[in-house]
Amino acid sequence: MRLYNTLTRRLEELSPADDTVRMYVCGPTVYDLIHIGNARPFIVFDALRRVLEEKGFRVILVQNVTDVDDKIIRRAQEEGREPGEVALHYTQEYFADLERLGVRPPTYSPPATAFVPKMVEFIERLLEKGHAYVVDGDVYFSVRTYPGYGELSGRSVEEQLAGARVEVDERKRDPLDFALWKGAKPREPHWPSPWGPGRPGWHTECVVMSLYLLGETIDIHAGGNDLIFPHHENERAQAESLTGKTFVRLWLHNGMLTVRGEKMAKSLGNFYYARDVVKLFGTEAVRYFYLSRHWRKPLDFSFEALEEAKAAVGRVYNFLAEAERIPSEVRAQDPSFSSFLQEKEKKFWAELEEDFNTPGALAVVQEIIGESYKRADPGALREGAAAVRRLCRPLGLFQGEASAPELGKLSEELLNLVVELRSQLRKEKNFALADKIREKLAELGVELRDGPEGTRWVLKA
Ligand SMILES: [Zn+2]
Repeated sequence: MRLYNTLTRRLEELSPADDTVRMYVCGPTVYDLIHIGNARPFIVFDALRRVLEEKGFRVILVQNVTDVDDKIIRRAQEEGREPGEVALHYTQEYFADLERLGVRPPTYSPPATAFVPKMVEFIERLLEKGHAYVVDGDVYFSVRTYPGYGELSGRSVEEQLAGARVEVDERKRDPLDFALWKGAKPREPHWPSPWGPGRPGWHTECVVMSLYLLGETIDIHAGGNDLIFPHHENERAQAESLTGKTFVRLWLHNGMLTVRGEKMAKSLGNFYYARDVVKLFGTEAVRYFYLSRHWRKPLDFSFEALEEAKAAVGRVYNFLAEAERIPSEVRAQDPSFSSFLQEKEKKFWAELEEDFNTPGALAVVQEIIGESYKRADPGALREGAAAVRRLCRPLGLFQGEASAPELGKLSEELLNLVVELRSQLRKEKNFALADKIREKLAELGVELRDGPEGTRWVLKA
């Protein structure tokens, strides 16, 4: 599989050292519920993980929970609670939301606070190697000691300085230096360290958990492209300064989500929590919406787009419901249909293997559905449905029960009777009345399909 690596700016082969893919995705800061922008990397990289598993890899996915942070402390102060209580509450809500989104829990979800002693050790080693310095209880990373700084974001140290609004801090040797350890302020959570009580910086949390749980070199480190600078640039600088080895083989960054072309913000009144959108449209429509756009491109959210996704999901389930009423052993009459399916399956996988093109793969699914209908052959319909189920499983789509809209037993028998009477009319060449029955039924949402084995009725949702 080839994926676009932010570091090298080209597609590169995913090539783990063995059959295990070691993958880190930056997780939430638990001070609020996750919103629809947060949901994108969770859904996209969950699907990538499942696709890699389908290809036979073992995947270890680490997704941190940042449970100590300025925003958590602020929220706790506003609500008159302890920061730990706020963090625990939103950690539980985060896992509940992953389930709502159909996202499997990561292999490890380490809370940052459980790793503070490891972070202290890590900072001590950076100090020993001359990559960091202490200023009154804070520890900073010295950016100029890592020659690769700026490679990931594609901007040199000089450009970063000119472009960024870097606040002047007299205590830093260089304005780009960043905090590895922050000395405790009054009433803030803190842990003991050789430099006095304090807490780790965010960039140090992720890098330590990645090194500790996955090893010095991992296959994939992923997140939104707003994390490239400074978060991932700073993670890379710390890890590679310490180990002297490649920290990450492939850096993957998903595009940003906008709402009707604008940045989403509570202050703009266009802010949506993921769970509210799931409640309105359902898990699969939400997943389909995210996966029907390429993960690296910007994604524009609107209720119309979600409505469309919901309708698209409904059409696939209609197809499955219709096809799965046919016994599974019924085969397509035309043997060329199975070579058609084989060719589409190949194409489906080729789309995913070339930069994880989920919209391309979903388009192949639509081609299968279109052709299965076109054949007007129950066997083709049945085989097409089986292919759709099999292919979409690693995307976490179309695995639910495909039930046609509920009809009572009496209605079903009445419908069968109407269809039988219409068949009789056709035999008697009373096509005018037969067509009228077809039209009237269509108005009621019942579609008739005439085939060599007779007529079947299908409910349109
Ligand atoms: Zn991170």
